[in-house]
Amino acid sequence: MSQDYMATEKTRIMVVDGSSVSRAILTRILREEITHADVVPCESGAEALKKLGEENFDLVTTALLLPDMDGLDLSRQIRKSKRHHYTPLVVVSGDADDRLLREGFEAGVTDYFDKSQGYKAFGGFVRSFITRNSGLVGRILFVEDSRTAATVTCEMLERHGLQVEHFTAAESALASLQRLDESGLHDTQGYDLVITDFYLKGNMTGGDLLHAVRAKMHYSQQELPLLVITGTEDFQTQAEVFHAGANDFVAKPIIEEILIARVRALLLIKHQYDALKQQAETMRWLAATDSLTGVRSKRYLVDHGDDFLRDSTHQPVCAMLIDIDHFKQINDTLGHITGDHVLAGLGELLDAEFEDSMVVRFGGEEFCVLIPNAEGDAMLQRAEALRLSVANLKPAGVDISISIGLVSSADLDELVLTRFIGLADKALYAAKQSGRNRVHINLGDQIVASPLGDAESATA
Ligand code: GH3
Ligand code: MG
Ligand code: MG
Ligand code: MG
Repeated sequence: MSQDYMATEKTRIMVVDGSSVSRAILTRILREEITHADVVPCESGAEALKKLGEENFDLVTTALLLPDMDGLDLSRQIRKSKRHHYTPLVVVSGDADDRLLREGFEAGVTDYFDKSQGYKAFGGFVRSFITRNSGLVGRILFVEDSRTAATVTCEMLERHGLQVEHFTAAESALASLQRLDESGLHDTQGYDLVITDFYLKGNMTGGDLLHAVRAKMHYSQQELPLLVITGTEDFQTQAEVFHAGANDFVAKPIIEEILIARVRALLLIKHQYDALKQQAETMRWLAATDSLTGVRSKRYLVDHGDDFLRDSTHQPVCAMLIDIDHFKQINDTLGHITGDHVLAGLGELLDAEFEDSMVVRFGGEEFCVLIPNAEGDAMLQRAEALRLSVANLKPAGVDISISIGLVSSADLDELVLTRFIGLADKALYAAKQSGRNRVHINLGDQIVASPLGDAESATA
C-alpha cells in the first residue's frame, strides 16, 4: 500500500467569490499550494451552480456573501444535487460569523476558514482539508448475506474509491483470508479492512469470523481493522464485538456518511501501521548493510553468521577472509576518498561474484565471505579466480591486490562462527607474512599455501 494516498489524479477545486481581487488571490494561492489541483474560479452562485451541474469537483470554497445569493443557500442547493451531494464545501468568511456557526451545519457546510488568519494560512488549510477528505484507498473484505443490502453498501464504498470484495458467507471470506495468509501475500495483496454483518445465515456468524481473525490468525487491530455491522438496538452485540476485538461497529440501516467516516478512520490506522512497518524494514535493511560498499554489515554477520554456518543444506561451508594489500598507502598517496572508491569497487565485485554467499565488510579494508557448498577444490578455485579478478579490477583506476585466508567446515569438528573466522584470519596472516597477493588455507592442524597459487604471486 502506497503511503502517499492523497489523490494522485488532479483534485478539482471551485472557488466562488464575488470580489475579483479576493477570487484572484484565493485561486493563485491554491494553485501554488496544491500543485496537483485544477482550480476553477466563479464569480456568482448562478455561475457556480451551472458549472457544478456539468462537471465534477472535489471541493468547493465559497464566500458567505455572493453577488446573487447567500453562501449558505448555495450550500443547500449543492447538497440537493445528485452529482455533488457529498462534495465538501468550505465557507471562507471575514470573521467567524454567528449565522455561519448557527446555520452552517444544517445548510451542509463541511468547514469554514476564517479569513482573518490571512491568505497564507488558507493554502495550508485547504491542503490539510484535502488530505483528510480525499478519496479513500483500500481493499475491503465485505461479508453480508443479504444480496440487496450488500449491493447498496458496496455502491457506497465504491463511490468513495474503495475496492470491495464481497462474500455472502463468513466461511468463504475466512478461506480467502487464510489463502492470502498462507501464501504470504497478506502484506502486498491482502485486505486493508474487514467489514462483516454480525448476523449471517451460514454456520459462522460475524462474531465467529472476528474470533478467527483475532484469536486464530492473530491479526492485530492495526494490522487488519475490523468493522462489524449490528442492529441499531443491538446493544449487547455492540458491546460484545468490542470485547472480541472489533475496532468499531456500524448499525443498520447503514447511513453512508457514518459508514464512510468509520471506514476512513480505520483505513488511517491501517495505512499508518503499514508505513511504520515499512520504516522498520528500511531500518533493518540499513543496519544489515554497509553503506560504503553495499555488502552486508558486520552486524548482519553477528546476527546471522552462526545459522548460516551450521545450516545443514550449506555443508561444507568455507570462510574466505580478504584483506587489501598495502591499502594504507593508497589512502596516503591518493587520498581517503579514492580509498573509499576502491573499497566500494571491491564490494561490488564481491557481491557480483558471490551471489550464493554471505558477503560481509568485516573491518576497514577487510571482507569476509561465507560460501555454502564449497566442495573439494571449489573454494581454492574460487579464491584464486577472485585474486586474479581483483588484480584486473583497477577500482577508481588504482592497481590493487588482495591476500586471502581460507578455512572449510569439512576440516573441522565443531562449528562456531568466531572460531571459524579466527582460523581463516590465521591463514590470512600467513598469506601476508609470506609476501601478500596470495591464498593460504587453514586445515585445522596446519596452514599451507594454496596449491593452485601461481608463480607470479610468490614474487609479488
Ligand atoms: P596490509 O597489506 O598489511 O594489509 O597493509 P594495509 O596498509 O592494507 O593495512 P593497515 O591495517 O596498516 O591499514 C588499513 C588502512 O585502511 C588504515 C585505515 O585508515 C584504512 N581504512 C579503514 N577503513 C577505511 C575506510 O572506510 N575508507 C578508507 N579510505 N580507508 C579506510
Ligand atoms: Mg445478515
Ligand atoms: Mg590491508
Ligand atoms: Mg587490514
